[in-house]
Amino acid sequence: MVRLLRTVSQTSVNETPAAGPGQVWDLLVIGAGPAGLTAALYGARAGLSTVVLERGPVGGQIAVVDRVENYPGFPGGLSGAELATKMEEQARLSGAAFVSGDGSASGLDLASPVKTVAGLRARAVIIATGARPRRLGLPGEQRLGGRGVSYCATCDGPFFRGRRVVVIGGGDSAVTEAIFLSRLAATVTVVHRRERFRAAPSLVGRLRQAANVNFRLGRVPVDIVGEERVEAVLLKPRGAGEEVEPERLEAEGVFIYVGLDPESGFVRGHVDLDDQGYIVTDEVLRTRVPRVYAAGDVRAKELRQVVTAAADGALAAMTAERDLAEDEA
Ligand code: NAP
Repeated sequence: MVRLLRTVSQTSVNETPAAGPGQVWDLLVIGAGPAGLTAALYGARAGLSTVVLERGPVGGQIAVVDRVENYPGFPGGLSGAELATKMEEQARLSGAAFVSGDGSASGLDLASPVKTVAGLRARAVIIATGARPRRLGLPGEQRLGGRGVSYCATCDGPFFRGRRVVVIGGGDSAVTEAIFLSRLAATVTVVHRRERFRAAPSLVGRLRQAANVNFRLGRVPVDIVGEERVEAVLLKPRGAGEEVEPERLEAEGVFIYVGLDPESGFVRGHVDLDDQGYIVTDEVLRTRVPRVYAAGDVRAKELRQVVTAAADGALAAMTAERDLAEDEA
């Protein structure tokens, strides 16, 4: 069941048909992160009736990022939420409609010329569902989820003001969020399994400057422990065997940033996925299914950044527009 979030906004240049039962949209975009919002902007501006389907808040992963500093045009950066809001506003002003609903709901049909996703029908579909935080798979991680274990420093960081927190991971996310947490927490200990960070050196340099940040490098977490709430993280040197006693790192909060998994399970069997579950596309972002495209972090590619997600959104929409025009020729 889907719900129209707001009435379709229209500009003088784009006449977008109002949503109604049985309507066939030109373009359905699944996911309202930077890739989906840019696809909607370009699709609507190209004159396609465009609808965006999103099950959560608009913005995807960036909605909870404290600061985005490397999206061009914003010297000094801006909050992820602000960037997401601006992108949404621009897509709406161009004439895109937004519908709340779950693209992974049953009844998915991508193969027919008129495709169906969550009860919406469209001639072309762009999958821009992004990725979600990867779990470590430790026993205490699930048990203490929401009780000291978190995957979102922007959401939960304020609960740990003046407390001790641990950040696990060595990529851009771990380092960016550790910098954010260092402004709130009493101490931040960054646990990374290698000596070298994967994150951009400029970020690592800023993290090293924070006086209350410690590092436990070459260590892997083996469990998170606590009765009612997190009390400590247990660490071992990487490669250490069963016989090695774990080191106990006392902390009230644990923020886990060990990478992302693509939100692609619902299209498994419909489009091609690589061995990590990312959607395989050609150079202009077509999947193997006619009039189905993929854009952003859910797609198999080299660089996952806001700017590359936005670029994907634009390209996928323009390819869809060309393909639909060919169908009509
Ligand atoms: P990522 O780049 O994949 O990094 C994941 C980190 O977690 C790596 O350091 C990895 O260690 C570690 N890790 C993975 N599995 C682990 C395990 N089982 N135990 C312990 N450590 C583990 O993920 P990310 O930082 O979430 O970033 C995802 C994408 O978003 C990247 O492309 C990133 O550049 C982008 N991003 C960009 C920005 C920005 O531009 N400001 C901010 C956030 C994210 P190894 O290094 O040893 O593999």
